[in-house]
Amino acid sequence: MHIVSIHAHPDDAEILAGGTLALLSALGHKITIASLSAGDCGSTVHGPEEIAAIRIAEAAESAALIGAEYRWGGFRDMAIFSDDPSRRAVTGLLRELRPEIVLTAAPSDYLSDHEAASQLVRDACFAAPMPNYSTSTGSPALAAIPHLYFMDPIDQRDRNGNLTIPDFTVNVASTFETKRAMLANRRRQRLWLQQQHGMDDYLQQMEDWTCACGARAGIELGEGFRQYRIHPYPREPLLQQMLSTFLSKNGR
Ligand SMILES: [Zn+2]
Repeated sequence: MHIVSIHAHPDDAEILAGGTLALLSALGHKITIASLSAGDCGSTVHGPEEIAAIRIAEAAESAALIGAEYRWGGFRDMAIFSDDPSRRAVTGLLRELRPEIVLTAAPSDYLSDHEAASQLVRDACFAAPMPNYSTSTGSPALAAIPHLYFMDPIDQRDRNGNLTIPDFTVNVASTFETKRAMLANRRRQRLWLQQQHGMDDYLQQMEDWTCACGARAGIELGEGFRQYRIHPYPREPLLQQMLSTFLSKNGR
């Protein structure tokens, strides 16, 4: 299977689904980690082109740790919108990558880029099999709508601050050190996250979120997901079956 993660910024996927992506890679599946933006506003020290180039290189390094490829979607920070050209761009990316399973951002989240990414990916999954829907990549339409999953939002809180309840939680204890390593190279992010997000230690913060998600599911370290099962998206629990031995037992 080819599993493609498409979130808004470099490091979103690693924080929210890094352990699960590492598990899937270890099970022999092909993984691509895409961020729509390269994170060009995530610095007070480097200019936008400079920090974007740095973050693209770091994201590719992190992806390589689990044998995955990294792709930048060509968007800019705070400039991800669900509009016609953006939908065609994301659909073109999906047609090029041709995944069976797509993981994306939660539809309700604290940041507009995340919510727009979620909507774009959801609609691109629908558009990708439509042969009359044109994109610039020239890749042919997909055979079917991919299985679509939403990652939990950061801290499992929706845009109103309410706790979200995932369909299932993946036990990532066995790949947690890999998840940490995938984020440990984001050295330049530390200063930015201190200044903009008030985070003293982003690795500890990531561990706290992973622990809290796990605790809600009765395990030590977890990552939560929700499958988009609404007609006509595929309802078969494909990802859950692939990860069946790693799912928490309490049904969350
Ligand atoms: Zn983000």
